[in-house]
Amino acid sequence: MALTKQALDSFELGPIRPPSEAYSLLIRATRNCPWNRCKFCHTYKGEKFQLRPVEEIKQDILTVKAIQDRIKETFWKSGYGGRVQEAVRMILNNPPNQAYYNVALWLYAGGESAFLQDANSLIMGTNELVEVIRFLKQTLPSINRVTSYARSKTAAKKKLEELRELHEAGLSRLHIGLESGYDPLLQYMDKGVTATEHIEGGKKIVASGISLCEYVVLGLGGRKMWRQHATQTARVLTEIDPDFIRVRTLTIHARMPLYNELQNGNFIRSTDEEIVAEEKLLLQHLECHSNYVSDHITNLLQEIEGKLPRDKEEMLASIDRFQSLPPQERTNFIIGRRVGIYVHLDDLANSHKHQAVEQIIQRLNQGSGQVGDETIYSLMEGFI
Ligand code: SF4
Repeated sequence: MALTKQALDSFELGPIRPPSEAYSLLIRATRNCPWNRCKFCHTYKGEKFQLRPVEEIKQDILTVKAIQDRIKETFWKSGYGGRVQEAVRMILNNPPNQAYYNVALWLYAGGESAFLQDANSLIMGTNELVEVIRFLKQTLPSINRVTSYARSKTAAKKKLEELRELHEAGLSRLHIGLESGYDPLLQYMDKGVTATEHIEGGKKIVASGISLCEYVVLGLGGRKMWRQHATQTARVLTEIDPDFIRVRTLTIHARMPLYNELQNGNFIRSTDEEIVAEEKLLLQHLECHSNYVSDHITNLLQEIEGKLPRDKEEMLASIDRFQSLPPQERTNFIIGRRVGIYVHLDDLANSHKHQAVEQIIQRLNQGSGQVGDETIYSLMEGFI
């Protein structure tokens, strides 16, 4: 297959990828989200879903190869020889375009991992998706890991044999937005999937041999549904027993339908401290063998990570440690996290950082002695 002239310098990129795929090569297999109705999501709002023809995706893969070859050739000529990583670091400082940057970053990390965008690659016909994955691995043989986003409902509709075929072709991991396992909340958020479908889709992926990462949104139930959100999400995850559970904390932006619910009082947001109590309940009810990961910047307690059930008590102990702090120290930690000064609870012991946070608190509370919840939400949302 030949590369068209105009495709030589760039290829199409979608808007997002999971935090854990920061160094993956990004290949846009479909455009936008075929569902696009979730109230808490603004990523693809206003954008129309499109399947991309397989030949078009292959052209992008060939463009990646051309960019990769050009990077290697240029630096060989410039005397860097095989020191690709050193050379790539220079490109990262001044990339000609975003596609070039992505290829350089991917090479810098070893060139082994690729992520298929956008929101639900499983919606492609299985034969087409297999063809894309095979072509990707043949064209770029350094790739030994291919991952993508998918919806539980779509996974539930695929036959187990189809998922196995995808795994054999090279699909290593699927990232699924479970968000919650509580049906009334899934319905309220217009997630378009039930807890039963989450379980069916998730279990099928696990049975196929594809690694599964399920995402949960802490705070999604708000003050009205937080308990059921925590316990029912734990129930669904326990049944699925995915390889990874990743948590991220709810943020609300004006482009989300949930913003209007917040404005008209239908949705009442949980505070950081309430979300910590929710996470504790979730962890207490999880009876699976997953890796629990908290790698999102929005999470207050990023140190709550570990392998279940082995590290469960340790993770709960971190929550207890936060909850046992005097109220002023909890506020100090929350503000310190939300302005990016703290990463972990241990940072509270750093007197310089602690003092810097106290000064910020003085400015924010303007003598009232308290920092309001709205201020804390806007700090978090302004920070990401
Ligand atoms: S399915 Fe995913 S990408 Fe699509 S609207 Fe819902 S959260 Fe957003």
